[in-house]
Amino acid sequence: MSSAITVAGVRVDTRHWIGGERVASAGTFTDHSPIDGGVLGEIARGGPAEAEAAVAAARAAFPAWAATPRAERARILHAIADGVDKRVEELAIVETTDNGALLRSHRHGVMPRVAHNFRFFADWLLKLDHEDFETRGHTNHVTWDPAGPCVLITPWNAPLMLATWKVAPALAAGNTVVLKPAEWSPLTASLLADIAAEAGLPAGVLNVVQGYGSEIGDALTSHPDVRRISFTGSVPTAKRIAASAAANLTPLSLELGGKSPLLVFADADLDLAVDLAVEQFDNAGQVCLAATRILVEETVAEEFTRRFTEKAGTLKQGDPRDEATDIGPNIHPRQLEKIDGFVQRAVAAGARTVVGGHRRDGQYYAPTLLTDVDQDAEIVQEEVFGPVLTLQTFADEEEAVRLANGTRFALAATVATGDPERAERVTGRLVAGTVWVNCFFVRDLRAPFGGSRLSGVGREGGTWSFDFYCDVKNTVTAPGGWRDHG
Ligand code: NAD
Repeated sequence: MSSAITVAGVRVDTRHWIGGERVASAGTFTDHSPIDGGVLGEIARGGPAEAEAAVAAARAAFPAWAATPRAERARILHAIADGVDKRVEELAIVETTDNGALLRSHRHGVMPRVAHNFRFFADWLLKLDHEDFETRGHTNHVTWDPAGPCVLITPWNAPLMLATWKVAPALAAGNTVVLKPAEWSPLTASLLADIAAEAGLPAGVLNVVQGYGSEIGDALTSHPDVRRISFTGSVPTAKRIAASAAANLTPLSLELGGKSPLLVFADADLDLAVDLAVEQFDNAGQVCLAATRILVEETVAEEFTRRFTEKAGTLKQGDPRDEATDIGPNIHPRQLEKIDGFVQRAVAAGARTVVGGHRRDGQYYAPTLLTDVDQDAEIVQEEVFGPVLTLQTFADEEEAVRLANGTRFALAATVATGDPERAERVTGRLVAGTVWVNCFFVRDLRAPFGGSRLSGVGREGGTWSFDFYCDVKNTVTAPGGWRDHG
């Protein structure tokens, strides 16, 4: 196996990164670009041996990194952010080539946010504190102690963004990390390893292993030396990981799928509501937060549908490297088959296609809106993870909330209304980790992020991330006693 490939002019090492060294595997897997299905290269295919080596490297590096003063850890994380900033163009084109999401989003939004992830958690670490308090003259002092080696497993829809959302707080907290990116988009994690090494992150603090989750995953998640597992991905994989982690009761953070609603009330700004609905086709619908169930008050449903159809017709689908493109390809032929299967079964069950409903050449699926669907239909209940929306109508607020809360997922919800009192009433009754009112996808790392029900376990962001990645400790000292402030 050759040790590196060149993707859009950028050299990417295709081996693992373990203990500060590049490590090959006997086997490889082939990485394809969703843009044209072309082969990008052969990637190291890790298994239990590589998992063992990576966890051992993370364990060996842990004591020194945990003992590194907070300010020094923060300095190195800032240096990683600077390295990301310097390579935004390279990271953006490699990510787009590897996972098919829009180059303009990677360039202007995603990669700068990757750098922000490191800066944010470095700075938050420095102000992470809890005021001491007294209990009958005794002092309580709360600290966030590093937990140990963490296994971070991430999906392909926003590879580097989602990986660094975990890597940054885990490292800031003083932990060491084994990152396993998705096999459909393995490349930018390898570039991150280069950037971290150049920034002075000590060997073994960040390790990156490549491979199929089914082959390397279990050895990582059942490992007794692993102190935290953070996973973003699908519900079936989460269940397997939870079962594997149960061997050691390793704490888990799970960010999973969604089937989020967009509630459009008759008093809403209808153009805004249509914009919010069409935005759900972003990343070809491969967004966990996507509000794929559009619920419209029946008095405005016809007009909403008319304006939606008109607006959806203006979307430009094609090569994601073209700045004018709105919707790129789907990640993999298997994902495309899955999407089309959902749509064809829905149509066979009586759904009406308002927009799209079919494949296009290559790995592209036409943006689709289906209506005449029942609440218990598969297309309403299951996550498609493609550019497929459903439209249902409701008669009143009561029915809107019932439909909105009526799936096994609870990641996010969006409400379009012109009535602030209604907004307050409705948002209070929605089950979701994030609720947006008259907006969508506004994210702030100070805010908690996560889902309820099958959408996940735990929250990420700000102190919530440190709560997860640390052993939170309370030290109680007797009156007049001695206490080490650490
Ligand atoms: P997936 O579950 O198939 O794979 C995710 C990761 O898990 C990959 O790295 C994969 O290799 C690994 N994996 C697979 N089997 C494993 C095993 N047995 N042990 C350990 N690791 C294993 O998910 P996907 O298809 O890559 O991603 C899409 C899913 O992710 C969707 O359901 C989407 O909603 C969800 N997602 C959620 C969020 C969120 O923040 N809630 C964000 C993005 C994506």
